[in-house]
Amino acid sequence: MPVDIRITLPDGTQRAAPSGTTARAIAEGIGPRLAQAALAARVNDAIWDLDRPLRADGRVEIITEQDPAALEVLRHSAAHVLATAVRQLFPEAKIGFGPAIEDGFYYDFEVPRPFAPDDLQTIEARMREVAAADYRFVREEVDRAEAGRRFRDDPLKLERLAELGDDEVITVYSDGPFTDLCRGPHLPSTGRLKHFHLLHAAGAYWRGDSRRQMLQRIYGTAWLTKADLDAYLHRLAEAEKRDHRVLGRQLDLFSIQEEVGPGLILWHPRGATIQFELRRFIEDEVLRRGYQLVYTPHVTREDLFIRSGHLPLYAHNQFPAMAAGEGEAANVRYRTKPMNCPMHTLIYAAQQRSYRDLPLRLAEVANVYRNELSGTLHGLLRVRGLTMDDAHIFCREDQIEDEIYDLLDLTDLVLRRTFGFEYRLDLATRPAKKIGGDAAWDIAEAALRQALDRRDLRYGLDAGGGAFYGPKIDIKLKDAIGREWQGATIQLDYQMPERFQLEYTGADNRPHRPVMMHRAIFGTLERFVGCLIEHFAGAFPLWLAPEQVRILPITDAQNEAARAVHRRLRDAGVRAAIDDRNDTLNYRIRDAELFKVPYMAVIGQREADQGTVALRVRGAGRKQEIVAVDAFLARVIDEIRRRALTLGTSA
Ligand SMILES: [Zn+2]
Ligand SMILES: [Zn+2]
Repeated sequence: MPVDIRITLPDGTQRAAPSGTTARAIAEGIGPRLAQAALAARVNDAIWDLDRPLRADGRVEIITEQDPAALEVLRHSAAHVLATAVRQLFPEAKIGFGPAIEDGFYYDFEVPRPFAPDDLQTIEARMREVAAADYRFVREEVDRAEAGRRFRDDPLKLERLAELGDDEVITVYSDGPFTDLCRGPHLPSTGRLKHFHLLHAAGAYWRGDSRRQMLQRIYGTAWLTKADLDAYLHRLAEAEKRDHRVLGRQLDLFSIQEEVGPGLILWHPRGATIQFELRRFIEDEVLRRGYQLVYTPHVTREDLFIRSGHLPLYAHNQFPAMAAGEGEAANVRYRTKPMNCPMHTLIYAAQQRSYRDLPLRLAEVANVYRNELSGTLHGLLRVRGLTMDDAHIFCREDQIEDEIYDLLDLTDLVLRRTFGFEYRLDLATRPAKKIGGDAAWDIAEAALRQALDRRDLRYGLDAGGGAFYGPKIDIKLKDAIGREWQGATIQLDYQMPERFQLEYTGADNRPHRPVMMHRAIFGTLERFVGCLIEHFAGAFPLWLAPEQVRILPITDAQNEAARAVHRRLRDAGVRAAIDDRNDTLNYRIRDAELFKVPYMAVIGQREADQGTVALRVRGAGRKQEIVAVDAFLARVIDEIRRRALTLGTSA
């Protein structure tokens, strides 16, 4: 007679069940529909297979499609189905790891030759057969010797096995013909996997280590419904069209060249124009808000970063040290700077500060260098040379709330009011391991909350997610096709002022320690421009467009009139160009369209005689409107000044 265990359901009710019962049996006891929908179970906060025997009292919650945890179980199970198919088609393939990842899954294989696109089609077809066979995922606990026997032909699995501690329960899972060393959990059977697609294959080092062998990684995506899968594939296709690396080349914005080095951006004139406009925008804006601009060197003695605490902790993120120049001691080393904080801190410390001087807001659009792993570099999004729109604010504790309030306003101005991004905020509060007393953290967290509330902003709470040196607000923005990007961060810091012994003289005539804030609104200009390229699909709003107007005389007879219009635009600060090449008008129009130029001003003889242009607006097709040059000029200038998001809109 088995002992009974006590199961607590999510609604708080309890029921007794024989030891060895399963979540599936519990679901069946609740109702046939729940049993049908069940994919896995949450047992005391861990995710379990539906059929794994329960042997102790505990809370049990049935996981169905509605549960956010379902997708990960589905995707990881899809990786097993993929490996099942690959092993059937390529019996010599050795298996590595196969985790769920964001939006999908992958599996690594050691094979004699890379997979071709044709292979992926064949593998996907075989995966459908594996799913149709509806093999149960069977979990077994085995001892080390048995596991060694099962994977004797899989050296990668044996390597993993050797790492498992003696007290770890070793589990293997089988679905039909395939067995894997895995912790689980999985779907009840392969038939529950219906909506999936293989995406591509790529080389990947075993365990991400470039000294180990190169494996072949197959990526796939899997979803709970066909609609979700279709929407995701559509998003992927959209994203591919918007890929900033492709558009960056087409629009001649930037390049990354072998001779310069990976992760180092060459901004071509068109891309540099965008960067320049963004800089000018943020610098003008912060000057209006009481910041002061500073400029600091790209290299510094490395002792500075030892004092700030960045070395040796983040040495892997910095470029190696260089010898000092002539006239310095032999043991002095320099580094390119990975951040500006210590230098801004020294500017603060260069003077005696009084409470009346605060807040002191120092801003710098600065180049910093970080030694990112070459495998993680990606176009403008992950680089080694970064241009930060950095700022540090030094203030009194009673000023934190107002400063945060203004930073949230600046963020909103840039992200929503200027670029039309939706964004969301997360407040990350004190972690268990932290510096500074609870009283200081109480004040800081309350100030952040009050500032968020005063702006009537909804925000998520990331309890315990703050840095050890202070709480922060993380901002994530959503682009035109619904992807989320890491945006600005506003970070409070109690450590740096401590390390650098910063002080100000209070109203009480005694020394006090200021609070420091780090913040970047764009983050880095590389990443932000990459994001803008994809968000706008290269069709930038007028104020950012590298070329704002292209003037097209129909024949040589209108060249003089075209040059006159060009001069007027340029004198007004508008970026305009003339295309008077000997090509057909249609060809030249097509060329301007390829460069996504916002306005084309076509000038024929009638326009030349009447002081007008035939205006073609980007995105409006063949439609032309005849506008007086004066009116056109006024309109363009107004749209640039307002940083209008759409063309041809009036204020
Ligand atoms: Zn697994
Ligand atoms: Zn900083």
